Amino acid sequence: MTPSLRPGLDALEGYHSPQVDVRVRLNNNESPYPPPPSFVEELTRVVSRIPFNRYPDRRNRALRRAVADFAGVDEGHVFAANGSNEVLQTLLLAYGGPTRSALAFTPTYTLHGQIARVTGTPLVTVARTPDFAVTAETVATAVAEHEPHLVFFCNPNNPTGLPEDTAAVEVAADDPDRLVVVDEAYAEFAPTSMLDLAGQRDNVVIVRTLSKAWAIPACRVGYLIASSELVMSLEAAELPYHVSALTQEAGRLALAYEPDMRERVSAVVRERERVLAAVSALAGVDVWPSVANFLLIRPHGDTESVWQGLLERGVLVRNFAARADLPGCLRVTVGNEEENNAFLAALGAALASGGEAPASGPGQVPSGPPRS
Ligand code: PMP
Repeated sequence: MTPSLRPGLDALEGYHSPQVDVRVRLNNNESPYPPPPSFVEELTRVVSRIPFNRYPDRRNRALRRAVADFAGVDEGHVFAANGSNEVLQTLLLAYGGPTRSALAFTPTYTLHGQIARVTGTPLVTVARTPDFAVTAETVATAVAEHEPHLVFFCNPNNPTGLPEDTAAVEVAADDPDRLVVVDEAYAEFAPTSMLDLAGQRDNVVIVRTLSKAWAIPACRVGYLIASSELVMSLEAAELPYHVSALTQEAGRLALAYEPDMRERVSAVVRERERVLAAVSALAGVDVWPSVANFLLIRPHGDTESVWQGLLERGVLVRNFAARADLPGCLRVTVGNEEENNAFLAALGAALASGGEAPASGPGQVPSGPPRS
């Protein structure tokens, strides 16, 4: 028998995207293309020179400088951590907690809510509009009613793939005592970003990752861009030496390969538009347009059997069928051409053999996407 967990955690299920061994893995929004071989070779060389008996640079300055150069800001505006999830957790540890509250607009990235709960931060959720938008009016009403200390946005939003509205984010930021977190994990795939807002408003934080477009989720590198005061304030919540020397080197080096990143992103965006067009042309499924590296789809029939049908054909996608805010929906990561062809063939076949819509099926879903 083990001691009882802290109250509030015991009912949590945790965040588990299944790591199933399948031929085509399109469930985690990973890059289908690895970083270039020269990155791996150079990293191997650099790692061999690490003084392993010493702690790493506590301020991870080389990594922060590389991020700053990429983002066009001063390094004092950069905080880095082990993936953007740790960045988010540090923000919640510093600006959340039991006497505070956070607000999120659902459906959105589940970890925002989970990190709030793990850090003991009461979370209020407000539903997006039926077409998954958050309007300035929605935000104005929500902040007036709930007076949150922290508001989450996700630009583009996971799992809908849609961009957030800048005016809505600005309404949330109108109170300078409120922290506004804009999670831009997929920003490189989108035509626009809200990075400029972090320069204009001291209470807006842009959170980014090297796990998606930069293709190194294995290395766990994330960062935020914010006012230098805010960056310094995070020292209060971070653990000393939390970014290992290996992580610092991997992140710094990865950022030196920006042209390769741009090429990967272009290829993914081209494939995204091809997959969107192909799914739109299929009968029996809705698909939302996306500015990220994934697409949200909704089969008209029994989504569980379509998901299972895809899996039986060697294609794993994310299953949201049972989620109240995404009923009947699946999310598919845009892979390489071969993976996407496998997905499209499997989807066509699974839809053809899919069951009829169950009583609890599409009847209760949001009003519907612009494309079907
Ligand atoms: N934010 C969003 C919106 C995500 O989808 C993800 C990854 N699924 C993350 C943050 C976390 O990514 P990482 O911790 O690998 O940087």
